Amino acid sequence: MSLPPSIRPGTKWRNWGRSQRSRPEFLAAPTTVDDVVASVHFARDRGLTLKALGAGHSFTSIAATEGVHLVVDAISGVLAVDGNLVTLGAGTKLHQLPALLEPLGLALTNMGDIDRQTIAGAISTGTHGTGLGFGGIATQVRGVTLVTAAGEVLRVDAATNPELLPAVALSLGALGVLTDVTIECVPTFLLHAVERPEPTDTVLQEWLQRSAETDHFEFYVWPHTTTALTKSNTRLPGDAPRHPLTTLASWFDDEFMANGVYQAIVATGSVAPAVIPPINRLAVKLSGNREFTDVSSSVFVTNRTVRFREMEYALPIEAVPDAVRAIQKLITDRRWRVSFPIEVRSAAADSLLLSTASGRATGYVAVHRYWREDPGEYFREVEAIMLAHDGRPHWGKLHNRHAESLSDTYPGFNEFLAVRERLDPGRVFANNHLRQVLGQ
Ligand SMILES: Cc1cc2nc3c(=O)[nH]c(=O)nc-3n(C[C@H](O)[C@H](O)[C@H](O)COP(=O)(O)OP(=O)(O)OC[C@H]3O[C@@H](n4cnc5c(N)ncnc54)[C@H](O)[C@@H]3O)c2cc1C
Repeated sequence: MSLPPSIRPGTKWRNWGRSQRSRPEFLAAPTTVDDVVASVHFARDRGLTLKALGAGHSFTSIAATEGVHLVVDAISGVLAVDGNLVTLGAGTKLHQLPALLEPLGLALTNMGDIDRQTIAGAISTGTHGTGLGFGGIATQVRGVTLVTAAGEVLRVDAATNPELLPAVALSLGALGVLTDVTIECVPTFLLHAVERPEPTDTVLQEWLQRSAETDHFEFYVWPHTTTALTKSNTRLPGDAPRHPLTTLASWFDDEFMANGVYQAIVATGSVAPAVIPPINRLAVKLSGNREFTDVSSSVFVTNRTVRFREMEYALPIEAVPDAVRAIQKLITDRRWRVSFPIEVRSAAADSLLLSTASGRATGYVAVHRYWREDPGEYFREVEAIMLAHDGRPHWGKLHNRHAESLSDTYPGFNEFLAVRERLDPGRVFANNHLRQVLGQ
């Protein structure tokens, strides 16, 4: 069988967290929108499903397929600029953005912990950072171009098909292949970062107030300690004086402590769990006491080289302290040894149909396990706590929820299903994970 030039036989695929793998029959690597259209027709004509793949950083099988895997890496970079609106090729990696946006005097208004994702993958699962006044990256989407199951190239923005924007801006990859994304950026800015170890009880008591008062507040609760590491980032104008970390300080904290030493700790803990509590106490003592001011992207983003698996739930903001206390109690009662911290963040309410912050100010609570450890029991028990608080699972992180229970917590769930029926009635973009979470 001769294949179109942008399509070749598939190869084994696995995700960053090593929690998912698949063997697609074909791999499509389009370089143009026409190639994407041809790939969709190619899949449909053979009765195959097609799944766009970003950087493979989702922990769930949301990006897996046995049909055609399609990578839009070659459709990348800045395609158009209109004031603060920047149109990016869907395969643009977030780590490319500072170099692309800084010459324009622009930046993303908020970012998550890492920048390895593609812009299309990040918005499709609702990737977020922290800050009660700020939504996830998908809330900055002002337009997209996508190729639908019919092979139609559909523009969605304020002027064209605007009613589709709340669905296509955060679509789980279920509505088509995004080829470009228009993001509303902001003028470049600095962040003044203050990172401190503080008593966990105090931080939980002050959670609502500090989230409201600080531009970007988050904290990490270390199991087996009474200490939380807080991060408070305040926005400053782009021309404010910079006081970056020295190369040595940033290497010690971000590479040696956060990644190098930590890798050794969690690997040891996975075979000798008894060492975890004293090591967690030491880790808290050695890290997280620093203050600096730098460009926003370099403060928001960290380098994560220790591989892990993660579950994260979005809760009504006021439920966070009770939920975190319940997780702490769970770990103590079960005498589990957990090396990774519980991470807590926030986001503003938004109106995207499947956003985890849809319709409510949100607190995010995330738990992690080293990738060689079985997260099953810990994550299942934490999930029960999250369910009791009407939690919504992050679309890219591990969870066990199905459409039946998810539809109850999303006011826009049925509206999203109706858009899916319109754009992909034959389920060309389906996979097992979407059948689980969307139900059809
Ligand atoms: C170390 C690590 C740190 C993380 N930190 C954060 C964080 O701070 N905050 C947070 O919210 N999340 C975080 N995540 C989760 C991550 O941001 C999401 O899972 C994100 O979706 C990954 O992007 P990706 O490019 O790897 O997409 P993939 O995982 O490859 O794909 C995700 C989804 O996007 C769809 N998709 C990709 N490209 C297209 C396209 N062109 N058209 C249509 N659909 C497409 C896929 O089909 C799939 O449904 C983290 C993950 C890891 C591994």
